[in-house]
Amino acid sequence: MHEVSIAIGMVKELTRIALENNATKVTGVKLKIGKMSGIVADSLIFAFDAVKLEHPLMSSAAISIEEVPLVYECNTCKKTFETDNLSFQTCPFCESYSLKLLSGEEMHIENVEIETEEESHV
Ligand SMILES: [Zn+2]
Repeated sequence: MHEVSIAIGMVKELTRIALENNATKVTGVKLKIGKMSGIVADSLIFAFDAVKLEHPLMSSAAISIEEVPLVYECNTCKKTFETDNLSFQTCPFCESYSLKLLSGEEMHIENVEIETEEESHV
């Protein structure tokens, strides 16, 4: 399953971030996933929840995922528009077929919540 390797990569990246920030625990992570990325959010959550258990730093991290809509720019009229439709698009303003995808293919870690030594004393 594709999402398992993504989850393993994510845990590695989160471990790096946690260590850089002297974190004792990662409590939450927020991801942005483009609708065109081919990643199934539910599968990724499932995979992450399984993989994180092998990593004490990560084992209580809650994952949340925000789906990024597709954003196109029309090459003809230069307007941009958002869509949820994965099938072939035309510009809603001028009906041009000449479109450029601006976002919707990405997958990145948007935000990481950590607990550090100092904070746990408060
Ligand atoms: Zn247009």
